Amino acid sequence: MMTDERFDVVVIGGGPGGTRTASGVSRLGLSTLILEKRERIGYPVRCAEAIGPAEGIARYIDVKEPFVTSVVNGLTIVSPDGKRYQKEMKGIGYIVDRELLDLHIAEAACSNGAVLRTGHQATGLIREDGKVVGVNVLELSTRRKYRVQSKITVGSDGVESLSPRWAGLKGPTRVDEIFSCAQYLVECVDLPDKYVEFHLSSTFAPGGYGWVFPKGNGSANIGVGINPELASGLTARDYLEKFMDRVCPEGDRKRFVCGGTLLSDSLPSLAVDGFIAVGEAANQNNPFTGGGILNAIMAGDMAATTICRCFEKGDFSSSGLSTYTKEWKRNEGRMNKRFYLAGKVFYSLDDRTMDKVLSALNTREGLITRKGLGSAKLIGVLLRSSPSLLGKTLMKALSARKRSRKTFSGLNT
Ligand SMILES: Cc1cc2nc3c(=O)[nH]c(=O)nc-3n(C[C@H](O)[C@H](O)[C@H](O)COP(=O)(O)OP(=O)(O)OC[C@H]3O[C@@H](n4cnc5c(N)ncnc54)[C@H](O)[C@@H]3O)c2cc1C
Repeated sequence: MMTDERFDVVVIGGGPGGTRTASGVSRLGLSTLILEKRERIGYPVRCAEAIGPAEGIARYIDVKEPFVTSVVNGLTIVSPDGKRYQKEMKGIGYIVDRELLDLHIAEAACSNGAVLRTGHQATGLIREDGKVVGVNVLELSTRRKYRVQSKITVGSDGVESLSPRWAGLKGPTRVDEIFSCAQYLVECVDLPDKYVEFHLSSTFAPGGYGWVFPKGNGSANIGVGINPELASGLTARDYLEKFMDRVCPEGDRKRFVCGGTLLSDSLPSLAVDGFIAVGEAANQNNPFTGGGILNAIMAGDMAATTICRCFEKGDFSSSGLSTYTKEWKRNEGRMNKRFYLAGKVFYSLDDRTMDKVLSALNTREGLITRKGLGSAKLIGVLLRSSPSLLGKTLMKALSARKRSRKTFSGLNT
């Protein structure tokens, strides 16, 4: 086969999932290429920049300036009837400067020897005898097309990912499985500066939630994530304006951000011969909150460990790579399954039931701990608040899954 270049590992996508995988494999001496279609790593920022729990992060990255903008000391949940439920947890997480964080992880990969090419887009996978053996690439500035051969290709192209579809690991994303998000970076806000806030109401966040994440120095990320199917013809930005009127009408709107994040069920398998999917591309973000920075980093480390073992054995088959799928399922994947079910129920509640559930959540000790949200306990509260609901919603979710042909083709922002 004629190819232009050859690397041990090619990584599609320069987000935290891809660069973290690249960092792990290049540290052990594998020649590694990262392809990122954008001109700059981490830019434009499409994130509310919250990361936690702190103990989880500390296992993966040395949390230090300059990418930490503020430390989170607790959270507030505001129910549709306006009641506020607060929980203090000192140092539970951080608000980061996402561009700097992404750069930090990418630089670590490059200092281990990985080659980073921004402005280079993967346009398809190369196959030989059914196995993935490399990537077709387009250099965006020159329109030059070239091919890169690899033993392993890593698909970490995020929410808009195509590579796991090319590999046959998943189909198109369904509309009801994304949060359509819109956010302002707001300055001079008169808001608590150490608590993150989550606001629930069909008025400004149908099928999702509004957030206020203080970044320190009088600034905050204020946004909404909505289910586009419940949007009644309005965009996420329309809902954001309503939310701003409610929480921060005086705020100076500095930067507008829009994007989508997945609330999808886990993929049954994360690898095929010669290919592995990582991060949001692999549906690995939390399907209850949409958060995925830490999950992408964790998955990147797991993927890198498996890839290195496969190189030791010279086995790049799906069965060799399946250790990664198993490890993910044993750890975060197991919890994500529960979060997926809990999210399906929780975001389908009407405002009155939501008020009831939230007051029950408030009395449930240990539901929110320093480790995060207890998915099993959350399902327990949902069942107790509305016993028939879980069964009904699950049946609905499963039949929608079979029926729905409506797939995500663009953001409702
Ligand atoms: C508005 C919003 C707010 C969010 N807030 C939070 C939050 O507060 N906390 C949190 O944890 N998570 C948050 N998330 C989710 C989080 O940003 C993602 O889960 C996380 O970035 C996933 O990392 P990743 O590496 O898998 O993918 P990404 O960070 O999306 O990286 C994928 C990269 O692949 C590149 N790419 C795509 N296609 C190609 C291609 N064909 N060739 C080359 N490159 C390609 C993209 O340009 C991108 O840079 C938010 C998301 C949105 C939209």
